[in-house]
Amino acid sequence: MIQVSRHDIVIVGGGGAGLRAAIAAAEAHPDASIALVSKVYPMRSHTVSAEGGAAAVARDDDSEELHGFDTVKGSDFLGDQDVIEYFVEQAPRELALLENWGCPWSRNDDGTVSTRAFGGMTTKRTWYATDKVGFHMLHALFQHSMRFENIVRYDEFFVTELLTENGECKGVAALEIRTGEFHAILGRAVILATGGAGKIFPFTTNGTIKTGDGMALAYRAGVALKDMEFVQYHPTGLPGTGILITEAARGEGGYLRNADGDRFLVDYDYGVGNKAELGPRDMVSRAIIQEFEAGRGIDSKVGLHAALDLTHLGEAHINEKLPFVRELAKTYIGVDPVYEHIPIRPVVHYMMGGVDTDVNSATSMPGLYAAGEVACASLNGANRLGSNSLTECLVAGAVAGQNAMDFARGSSEGNVERLRGQAECESARVDALRGSAKGSEQISGLRQEMNSTMEEGCGVYRDHPSMAVAAEKAREIRQRASDLHLTDKSKVFNTEIIGAMELVNMVELAEVLAVSAAARKESRGAHTCRDFPKRDDTNFLYHTMAYQTEDGPRLDKKDVKLGHWEPQERKY
Ligand SMILES: Cc1cc2nc3c(=O)[nH]c(=O)nc-3n(C[C@H](O)[C@H](O)[C@H](O)COP(=O)(O)OP(=O)(O)OC[C@H]3O[C@@H](n4cnc5c(N)ncnc54)[C@H](O)[C@@H]3O)c2cc1C
Repeated sequence: MIQVSRHDIVIVGGGGAGLRAAIAAAEAHPDASIALVSKVYPMRSHTVSAEGGAAAVARDDDSEELHGFDTVKGSDFLGDQDVIEYFVEQAPRELALLENWGCPWSRNDDGTVSTRAFGGMTTKRTWYATDKVGFHMLHALFQHSMRFENIVRYDEFFVTELLTENGECKGVAALEIRTGEFHAILGRAVILATGGAGKIFPFTTNGTIKTGDGMALAYRAGVALKDMEFVQYHPTGLPGTGILITEAARGEGGYLRNADGDRFLVDYDYGVGNKAELGPRDMVSRAIIQEFEAGRGIDSKVGLHAALDLTHLGEAHINEKLPFVRELAKTYIGVDPVYEHIPIRPVVHYMMGGVDTDVNSATSMPGLYAAGEVACASLNGANRLGSNSLTECLVAGAVAGQNAMDFARGSSEGNVERLRGQAECESARVDALRGSAKGSEQISGLRQEMNSTMEEGCGVYRDHPSMAVAAEKAREIRQRASDLHLTDKSKVFNTEIIGAMELVNMVELAEVLAVSAAARKESRGAHTCRDFPKRDDTNFLYHTMAYQTEDGPRLDKKDVKLGHWEPQERKY
């Protein structure tokens, strides 16, 4: 018999969003029991690797109105404005709270919080703690969470299914990685805070664990995935590894150069004036690809790339503001940015799309909430502005924690034996897979095919014939993924079975992504089509909604929540 544990709410994910949700719930309800389930030890969540900073209004020359408009414009007018308004209003409070919990924001000489410039933001509003922001934020959250005895942690538990009763979410089935035993972790509400899915692509800044599990869990349970076609490429990844060189490097004054040594972004007109290196990520990534196509990419043993030049900033400035950039460049590409240019190229970084939620972090399934990168509220629309995501984890995480608790208080636990039965079935399914050796497909082979299919069909620049091919191929790969060849029968730390389940999740999402992309015949934000180069508000100002069916995703539309910021041409 599998083990059953009972809580008020269950949070899946121990990154920024999950921990913030847990703290919000635990603080408001000291008598409640909150389960925090994570497939890795919480401090290993991807949030830890964030470098550049978190956005919130902090200066006299800034306002919520400005932050809101920058975000709406950055989203190419696909962001939902009720969500954006709430976000910019809550952001300063959340970052100040984090300081109370121990996050050491960098300071100006007069003691005020120091902010730096980020792409697409009209003023300096990105709070930072040198260039190790994610580490400090996650540390503060994790340590603060440990003050609450009512947060019960399930570290290294892999959630494989949402448990439901009469269409309501009542808990999760999870595999304890250390023992191979299954658990039914029950709660009257569940929050998904499982992060993004960059690993669908071959070249990404994302950690190995970012396999979109939560998106796949919700999709299989009947919840829509929204706007999955919008994938953010960050302009500056290290060739080879994909390790991120933070946008803060440009925020602090770094230049991008081409093979001729020219600061080429000065020649790219984003519409008005010239933001050069401080353009938004989608536009800067496209400019780099255009340089490559014009024969001005730098060709070297690490492949075609552009150069990030920090040499003019000087050693003292780099050491003070960008020590991690220096460390990463030296360690992973053998370049000291004090003296040499860093090779960079655009790299998959962030999923704007995800589980369809609203301003309350609620999904369409009663009792199911989602926050952080797994969710699409939609704050980021067709293109996220750098440094909005960490703040989003806090704002949406807190909302999810509060609302899930409120929901749980007014809802029943469900039939425990029936829910246990559901988890037993899930356990039997996974047991049958473990080391079954029946199938003919290798995990690694299929993963590579998925990766190259997505890179070829859904890159920085796209066209509809290639997206249609990618969608077809992704569908075939998804079908083949039900025939995996697994050989490890052991229960203790069986990483093969985890890898198999992550792959199954990713191939499902890859298909949704390609099908959603192929249906959007316009260019908006990160979705740039050579065959439809213009934004088309008449026909495409809507969110794509993808629902699972046996034959693959069924697409539908959802209205964008507009507000006082009218759609206009996106210029910088
Ligand atoms: C290198 C890098 C740098 C970045 N820098 C910045 C920045 O400077 N500013 C900014 O705003 N944004 C930045 N981002 C984006 C931002 O960091 C992320 O979007 C954000 O941290 C995501 O947090 P999260 O809580 O949603 O998920 P994560 O931090 O990814 O955590 C996901 C959690 O879910 C758990 N989980 C997942 N699947 C399962 C499962 N099946 N079962 C159980 N648990 C599961 C994991 O164990 C983990 O605890 C950066 C991203 C990267 C990759």
